[in-house]
Amino acid sequence: MKTSNLHTLKARYVFPVTTRPIADGMVTIDGWRIAAVGKGPAGGGQFEDLGNVAILPGLVNAHTHLEFSNLSEPLGEPGMRFIDWIRRVIEFRLEAPTRGPVAAGLRESLQLGITTLGDIAQPGRPVKQTEDAGPDTTVFLELIAPTAERVAATVELARQHVAAARSSASWHPGLSPHAPYSVHPELLGRAVSLSAAEHVPIAFHLAESPDELELLRSGSGPFRDLLEQLETWNAGTILPNTRPLDYLRTLVNAHRTLIVHGNYLDDEEIAFLADHADRMSVIYCPRTHAYFAHEAYPLQKMLSVGVAVALGTDSRASSPDLSILAETRFVANKYPTVGRDVVLQLGTIRAATALGRDHQLGSLEPGKFANLAIVALPNRNAADPYELLFNSNEPVVATWYRGVKLATSRVAYQ
Ligand SMILES: [Zn+2]
Repeated sequence: MKTSNLHTLKARYVFPVTTRPIADGMVTIDGWRIAAVGKGPAGGGQFEDLGNVAILPGLVNAHTHLEFSNLSEPLGEPGMRFIDWIRRVIEFRLEAPTRGPVAAGLRESLQLGITTLGDIAQPGRPVKQTEDAGPDTTVFLELIAPTAERVAATVELARQHVAAARSSASWHPGLSPHAPYSVHPELLGRAVSLSAAEHVPIAFHLAESPDELELLRSGSGPFRDLLEQLETWNAGTILPNTRPLDYLRTLVNAHRTLIVHGNYLDDEEIAFLADHADRMSVIYCPRTHAYFAHEAYPLQKMLSVGVAVALGTDSRASSPDLSILAETRFVANKYPTVGRDVVLQLGTIRAATALGRDHQLGSLEPGKFANLAIVALPNRNAADPYELLFNSNEPVVATWYRGVKLATSRVAYQ
């Protein structure tokens, strides 16, 4: 280890997230990697005492749609029906550009301590220009084809997307066949095959609303009415008597799958996800879930049986901002019986695992990328360091991305 490259940061608490918090802890950075984490500096080099702050690994947002990042507030109003919100999204998409908001969303994410993202991108978005500056993004190409005739052209877009990522070190390819009601079964099958062959993850919105379950079960109901109005209803897209489990059985053959939302998964489906936690994760978007006033989210049940759960913000079309720290605070407050260490993992190492990136990031461990979120702590004593982190509105004050200090902000969260 060459001493001159070392930079040690000291904080009131260091949260490695895979081990217990360290009081008066230190993180030593060597270039773009973490060299050491503990109670003392690893050798010489620069030393900085950051004072009353927490050092966390860079936060991970496993699910968002940055194309909506120019919205100052969510579309519609709290408590609205999901299908009514979809109408608003479609109207918005018809008039809004997609490029500027992506850059704004990336900037906002970095300011909020988020150094890794799973972002859904519509076809045609110039990925390279926006994503090159970081954060470390898995760009899931949105695949929509409710009819068999559109499948071949959509699969070709997916192939091109995966090939384009090979020339870039700054983003990773993913595929997002959108949802049961917008994806023909043949497209889902071919996306799963491509995922397995190319080792890229899939993100799929599933079991998001009761209307979706009714559509799967009976092929009718308010969701069918919406699709008919949009002229995207196709009888071959939804096979009779379908349920989310049928989709899980197809998706389990992908390289990795992120089941987005999963608000209405039943016990058998949750058990299936627990059995395949090595390659299937569920992405809970807490404040978006609350926005639609859904039934209670089965978080404790999923965690207790071993489902791999991680956090996402979803987009600014249903969430007030892109803060994963705010999502963890929301979860800590709403689920007091879930371990605080687990809550922090949902927005760090478990989200990195969902994206297949945990070997390089998501926790503070020697050898991993030096991605750090520095969070101010309140000026009070507390026996439990998680209490200081979660029972607080103190902001992220700095973000380090691959060994470089990037952004300083004073963003208020709630
Ligand atoms: Zn989404």
